Amino acid sequence: MLAPKSRPKAIITDVDATLTERTTWYELTERLGGSSFKHADLFTKFLRNELSFSQIKKELFKIWRTNGPVHKDQLVEIFRDIPLRGEAYSVINSLKEAGYTLCLISGSIEMFIEEIARKFEIEHYFGNSKFCFDEKGYWVDFEYTKDEGHLKLEQFNDFLKKTGFKPEECVAIGDGDNDLELFSIVPGIVVNSKSEHLKELSWGEVKYLPRVLQLLETIE
Ligand SMILES: [Mg+2]
Repeated sequence: MLAPKSRPKAIITDVDATLTERTTWYELTERLGGSSFKHADLFTKFLRNELSFSQIKKELFKIWRTNGPVHKDQLVEIFRDIPLRGEAYSVINSLKEAGYTLCLISGSIEMFIEEIARKFEIEHYFGNSKFCFDEKGYWVDFEYTKDEGHLKLEQFNDFLKKTGFKPEECVAIGDGDNDLELFSIVPGIVVNSKSEHLKELSWGEVKYLPRVLQLLETIE
């Protein structure tokens, strides 16, 4: 477990199930008229290497196209409409007001992370899955990095390079196993998590987001 040695300058936060209630992928699937249970089942098979990436993609697009082809405009509308946890709005604004530099590092969909960054004027953000569209703007493909934790670490290093911050000047917030790598190099605050492993690695543990602010204030 790493503890902050001085007041951090930057807060690195996860998005899905940390700032949002649910996993954005499943929210998207349901809003497109598909079953998030089927989606979850396919994803489990993919993680177990029972399905290849191209196989799961084919199956997922069948689910997403339940109501016909999906246009980029529809996705933008959905991502704009997916709510964060009620308390996330004030926590993000309070962190900004307190002078912390914020960085979103998420294993979720890049378009969604971009939308949150735009909404809160957060300069630094990274997502995982990139969506691809045909010339008419229909969603036809996506990229995904399976090792989400490792990708997060690379993105964190990009953030450090870009800003000049050192790891010891940062605190990370997260909830899941894809935050393990990050929590092993910066002090982490775990939010309402089911991951015992992440809890063990974390410096602080909170059930509700606003407690993060109080925890940060305890650092000398
Ligand atoms: Mg998460």
